[in-house]
Amino acid sequence: MNSYDAVVVGTGFASTFFLKKYLSKVAPSTKVLVLERGHFFSHRDRLKAIHGESNVDNPNPAHEDTFINATKKEWIFQPGFGGSSNCWYGCTPRFLPSDFKMKSLYGVANDWPLSYEELDPYYEQVEDIMSISGPASTPFPRKKAYPLPPHQFTTVDAILNKQFPEHYISQPTARARVAVNGRGACCTSTVCSTCPVNAKFTIENSNIGVYEDPRVEVVYGAQVLSLELSGGLARKVIFQKDGKEQSVAGEIVVLGTNPIFNSHILLSSGDTHPLTGKGVGEQLGLEAIAHLDNMECVGGSTWVNANGYMLYDGAHRKEYAACLMEGSNYPFLRMERGKWRNMARFRMIFEDLPLDVNHISTSTDKTKPTVHHEQHSPYTLKAVDKMKEKLPGVLSCLPIEKIEYSVFFTSEAHIIGGTRMSSDVKEGVVDKNLVHHNYRNVFVLGSGSFTTYTPANPTLTLSALSLHSADQSF
Ligand SMILES: Cc1cc2nc3c(=O)[nH]c(=O)nc-3n(C[C@H](O)[C@H](O)[C@H](O)COP(=O)(O)OP(=O)(O)OC[C@H]3O[C@@H](n4cnc5c(N)ncnc54)[C@H](O)[C@@H]3O)c2cc1C
Ligand code: SF4
Repeated sequence: MNSYDAVVVGTGFASTFFLKKYLSKVAPSTKVLVLERGHFFSHRDRLKAIHGESNVDNPNPAHEDTFINATKKEWIFQPGFGGSSNCWYGCTPRFLPSDFKMKSLYGVANDWPLSYEELDPYYEQVEDIMSISGPASTPFPRKKAYPLPPHQFTTVDAILNKQFPEHYISQPTARARVAVNGRGACCTSTVCSTCPVNAKFTIENSNIGVYEDPRVEVVYGAQVLSLELSGGLARKVIFQKDGKEQSVAGEIVVLGTNPIFNSHILLSSGDTHPLTGKGVGEQLGLEAIAHLDNMECVGGSTWVNANGYMLYDGAHRKEYAACLMEGSNYPFLRMERGKWRNMARFRMIFEDLPLDVNHISTSTDKTKPTVHHEQHSPYTLKAVDKMKEKLPGVLSCLPIEKIEYSVFFTSEAHIIGGTRMSSDVKEGVVDKNLVHHNYRNVFVLGSGSFTTYTPANPTLTLSALSLHSADQSF
């Protein structure tokens, strides 16, 4: 059996940012094996596939074929090299300092075992690597300017920013405002799932260099099934390639397969921690559509143009969830002659709580987890009602005719939970460095580790946690 210093599973944000820091700290003789279930499918070939050019098939499995969905909620992600960086939209606000202290501030769920201040230097490093575009002032503290200038406001955003200068900001985003690092400038075409001008950060266009490092060997088409656990350590990684089971040993094992598969690999390994796989879920979102009298919503230089924090933080979080607003800027029309652009659309995103009824389990097929999502919390649903009461007041600086609401989105594409982080082994699966409390050479990365959900997009934070984990552990 082959043996490595580190066996890393997956090539998405979580694994890649971990490797970035790990490789900067370990010896030149270090040997790393990366096991990736999918394959490399380049941005160029993705564009060709969209344009219907022949002979270009995505070699990766469709996400819906990789798990069993026991309940109605949708789960969206992309298997393959770079994971969902290939299809994400690049919204990258930080969390607020209060998000890390939900129990001590609001008596809800639990505090994270690390603080905003501890994560701050790693946030900054991720923002530099992703070349984030963002404003000079944000509701979360930052020590230096974003690497790229902010995106431009729409006419509606500009009014809201004037009314709420501290709370309504140009969205911090990995959709580049100006050309950078081989990426084009965002041109607001709003098809970010495969950006035509390669403006958004992806693992492929990151120039992060980890998969070209001579210490790293990448094996594609290798799906990790389980770990052999004994004596508080992972002794072997068991994976399937070309229909054959194989195993390999690592001094450390690093799981970066997303919350659903990280939990599944641990459960398939006989992990007996009572919280493994528990509390999986997503934020809840819906759209608020504001009809405007005598005012067009035009301008703006990217898709999700702005973030509003007016309904996010405060004492209300003792009773109901935070809500983050996104100012949308995709091409939309109001179906009324003369008023085509007299409309503003906001995505309203609510945090949720990690409920144990929402969980991952194994299935009779050892390659597929089952995902159970029974409910969003009453804490979240109450916040939706409260938002509908408060939004007319928030938007009263605009010439509002009426506000309509969409039904809930079936997914926010932000899978969270399953291996939550805690100081105390009884309250979570991993410690503040994302090391499993019970198996001390197993790192369990990604947003599965979030102690609480927050309403903000998870990827900047999970990438910062990967840097923090490798920096503090080696
Ligand atoms: C359409 C869409 C839009 C999004 N937009 C945003 C956004 O604007 N902002 C934001 O913050 N987040 C966004 N997200 C969420 C974001 O993409 C995820 O938070 C992020 O990709 C998670 O990173 P990860 O590395 O943990 O997992 P992934 O990106 O899912 O990567 C997992 C990796 O593990 C591999 N893998 C899985 N199972 C195995 C196995 N058993 N063995 C070996 N390899 C395996 C996969 O092939 C993949 O390489 C979006 C997601 C989607 C789908
Ligand atoms: S809005 Fe268009 S140019 Fe900008 S990142 Fe998205 S797809 Fe790319």
